[in-house]
Amino acid sequence: MPVICFAGTAAGRGDQFRATMGVPRTPGANLLSRTAPLRGVPGLEEFVSALTRYRSLMLDEPDLERASSIEAEQLRVMEEVRDRVDDSAPLDEVLERLRADGAMGKIVEEVAEGLGVRMEVSGDEAYRSVEEDGLEGAGAMPVLVALQAVARAYAERYQARKGRLRREGAACPLCGTESGTMVKEGDRYYMVCPLCGYEWLVSEGAPACPRCGERERLGVYTDRVGILGLGACQGCGNVWHLILGEVDAPQILLPLIAMGAERFRRALPDAGRPGSEDG
Ligand SMILES: [Zn+2]
Ligand SMILES: [Zn+2]
Repeated sequence: MPVICFAGTAAGRGDQFRATMGVPRTPGANLLSRTAPLRGVPGLEEFVSALTRYRSLMLDEPDLERASSIEAEQLRVMEEVRDRVDDSAPLDEVLERLRADGAMGKIVEEVAEGLGVRMEVSGDEAYRSVEEDGLEGAGAMPVLVALQAVARAYAERYQARKGRLRREGAACPLCGTESGTMVKEGDRYYMVCPLCGYEWLVSEGAPACPRCGERERLGVYTDRVGILGLGACQGCGNVWHLILGEVDAPQILLPLIAMGAERFRRALPDAGRPGSEDG
């Protein structure tokens, strides 16, 4: 299983992901404040309109301006590397090749410039320090945005060629990132990777716990609207987010939208018990 260079806990990655996707610490502000940069970047309007359409499902109001400038950078990088990501090789090999010929460092520098982030070190050095120290370092943000863009370009090609594979488990078969987001389509249940956006089939007919495979002792908590749900496994204690209703949004946005299912956590039988927070 290729596990790319993210150290730290899954919870930490979630926070980082929220940060890069532009969820502000305090809700409110900025929504729809500026749309001018959207014109002319293919895919960006679709992203922003989905973010706007589903904002009431989300846990926090998205910072639209920040999210769209990050997405514009990622779409640009994806376009730039699309022909250079060989999806028949593992992703960590593809990343290593891009790093070795200096392309990754260049991409990190371009992303930093595009987002107005001042870098203290070169793109190569920033990339290396994320590989070594994880996402804690000061220059980690443009590296994460660049890495995610390359991983998304890879996953897009892979999924177009091979489709959504049947795989057990919560770890993304392409990049190794753990997913806590399940999407129901008809009677099929797919996991969505929060990093690369790849979707894989975990069960048919009924949901199964993505962590341990349990099918019987499961609870799904939802509301009358029924679009989002919270899955809870009595076998292993895992808690995860479900999209049960139709949500028409780019795959990469699904984990962020599904996070709204956290609202149902208080309905869990053991809510508030110490240790029940991180299922
Ligand atoms: Zn992935
Ligand atoms: Zn389980």
